[in-house]
Amino acid sequence: MSAPRKPDNEEERLAALRSFDILDSEPERAFDDLVQIAAAICGVPMAAVTLIDRDRQWFKAQVGMEQPDPSLDTSFCAHTILSPDTMTVVADATRDARFADNPLVTAENGIRFYAGAPLVTADGFALGALCLVDDQPRHLDAFQLSALDALSRQVTHLLELRQVSRQLSLQLREREWYEQQLHHYHHELETQNAELSEQTRTDPLTGLPNRRAFGAALAAAQEKSRETGERLAIAVLDVDHFKMVNDLHGHDEGDRVLVALADMLKAQVAGKGLAARYGGEEFVVLMPGASLEEARLQCEFVRQSVSLLPIGLPISVSIGLTAMVRGDDAEAMFKRADTALYEAKRSGRDRVVALSNQAA
Ligand code: GH3
Ligand code: MG
Ligand code: MG
Repeated sequence: MSAPRKPDNEEERLAALRSFDILDSEPERAFDDLVQIAAAICGVPMAAVTLIDRDRQWFKAQVGMEQPDPSLDTSFCAHTILSPDTMTVVADATRDARFADNPLVTAENGIRFYAGAPLVTADGFALGALCLVDDQPRHLDAFQLSALDALSRQVTHLLELRQVSRQLSLQLREREWYEQQLHHYHHELETQNAELSEQTRTDPLTGLPNRRAFGAALAAAQEKSRETGERLAIAVLDVDHFKMVNDLHGHDEGDRVLVALADMLKAQVAGKGLAARYGGEEFVVLMPGASLEEARLQCEFVRQSVSLLPIGLPISVSIGLTAMVRGDDAEAMFKRADTALYEAKRSGRDRVVALSNQAA
């Protein structure tokens, strides 16, 4: 028996075979079907799709074989891949020098007939064969031979399709992974940004101190008042029906209004207090040294200035204010000013409401 020699391009051929990632894969219906069809058309009891690995023959699909033999030495298909351009047909193996003493032939009910069509990739590598086997000598007619040839091309197509679809699903999984990573980084960035803007003390839209900065300034001013007895008032200012400005004129126009309002507040308090953006369309003003009545007049002036802003839109604000009393902390004071603001809104907006501690 002559054991099949290795193909000349064996290493490249094996690399090509590996690229299909098919060895030791599960059975697949499409390959089983092609094997069945080949056996039926040619009227043989056994058929298989084999792949020739470095030192074994592996069966992707087979029909009629009791114990498919993985040995390369006795493999018929290992001969077939040596001639990628043609089918290997052995009408009677007992009369073929290559196979006559092959144990698969000499065995009881051994192989007599073999026909193998090589599975040749687009790059010209013969990976294995679509083969037919019978324990009787036989001949295939021209129609059967061309059917076997056509079916072997279908097997190769199937291999290639399978490879493409696996690559696609791999790419899809990679893409999903990248998207997940991206999402993750985006989330981290957002968290960092949120922390950063929390850490900064300036509102990016208006350039005013932000809520955090205001909190610190209020605490410091209260501390100073406690020490020196200096008066202190705060006002909370909220734009009336601001949602409507956004709804009717757009968010950018809303932003423009907030900036104009902030600029006006900055100018009003310059040198005597602090204006801050508390959040959204809500501002706060710190008025050191002001009594409740003085603060009320100052806020009344602010309210009127708002109506005179040259922004081309009728804007009004409601303002709640209060003055510091003994024992006040920042929270209690702010809460009182906020209650005053609520009262200003409730009683018709576009007005200033002052709340002394006694009335709270
Ligand atoms: P009210 O008189 O009761 O205060 O009514 P309002 O519409 O002003 O109050 P509401 O709380 O319902 O709506 C506030 C709106 O302010 C909703 C929100 O979209 C808008 N807003 C908050 N921050 C910004 C901002 O930075 N820019 C813009 N353009 N709009 C903002
Ligand atoms: Mg408002
Ligand atoms: Mg508001």
